[in-house]
Amino acid sequence: MIQDASTPVSASTEQVVAELLKRPAFVMVSHVKPDGDTLGAGLALGLALKKLGKRVHYFQQDPVPRNLRFMADTRYVSRDVPADLPADTLWVFGDMSSTSRAGEFLPKIDRKNILDIDHHLGNEHFGELNYVLTHECSTGTCVMHLLRGLGVEIDADIATCLLTTIMTDTGGFMHSNTTPDVLTLSAELMRLGANKEEITQEIFANKRLAALKLLGRALDESKVEYDGRYIWSYVDDAMLTACKADGEDTEEIVNHLRSVEGIEVAALFKHFDGEIRVSLRSSGRVNVQAAAARLGGGGHFRASGLTFVGPLQDAVVAVDRALAAEGL
Ligand code: AMP
Ligand code: MN
Ligand code: MN
Repeated sequence: MIQDASTPVSASTEQVVAELLKRPAFVMVSHVKPDGDTLGAGLALGLALKKLGKRVHYFQQDPVPRNLRFMADTRYVSRDVPADLPADTLWVFGDMSSTSRAGEFLPKIDRKNILDIDHHLGNEHFGELNYVLTHECSTGTCVMHLLRGLGVEIDADIATCLLTTIMTDTGGFMHSNTTPDVLTLSAELMRLGANKEEITQEIFANKRLAALKLLGRALDESKVEYDGRYIWSYVDDAMLTACKADGEDTEEIVNHLRSVEGIEVAALFKHFDGEIRVSLRSSGRVNVQAAAARLGGGGHFRASGLTFVGPLQDAVVAVDRALAAEGL
């Protein structure tokens, strides 16, 4: 990979493996509004470290989403951290560009006790060690390299977590990050016992009626602009109540908006619980990571997000301007 001065260099697999072997205890940290990548990557590494006799906890501010509960160890995921952690506990942040994405319940942690494992473009390299591989399709595949370095056996539970990370971040092998290597790794994980059927069912096939009704409402409210290249819509508290839906039922809506013929960028404004979270998706021409970064958010070229403070109409205007600045 070509590195320029502005691209910080990732730690090597050997460096990270040595650090993992040195530490007695770990807290795996996943991001707010967790997805299959942040959670699956943390669980996979946690399960593997336990096999090496290490003490492992999982910190996540939000509850485990219904459709991710099939993964091993999810019952131990909590926003509470034990009081008796050793001073040299390593906090492993997975799938986030900055510690702020872990939420406000995260205790203050010394940088020397932070390992940052991620594949986001704008990762802030906030750890003592930063294992940031932006060419990887998921944080889970970064973890897979570490497991190989550690020499831990990847059992069926770990393989299922890792395949979940890949299937989540490739949209079930549909996004452009689905390279031949990704398919090879996935085949290996299936041979190791990864339960692809269960992942497909839980993440892609089973839909709650409430989620589909909410999708219908969001489609009804959608607006198409920029000569058919941009579509945006919103969901708010009233729509959630009317559909008996909750925040988890909003996850897929933006991808449906993006799938509309001719659309280059889709935006969904999620206005509930007193804040606006914006999800952006691109079909490949416009860099929505750069657009989100203009408003304090982040993500990937084709999938990004941000949190906006203020009224919905201001958010709509701000996002419009950021997208225009990125060439929409
Ligand atoms: P989402 O639309 O929530 O599925 O998020 C898409 C991508 O954008 C993911 O890679 C997220 O990590 C990233 N992202 C979402 N919200 C934020 C935010 N507030 N700040 C930084 N990155 C975000
Ligand atoms: Mn994520
Ligand atoms: Mn990811």
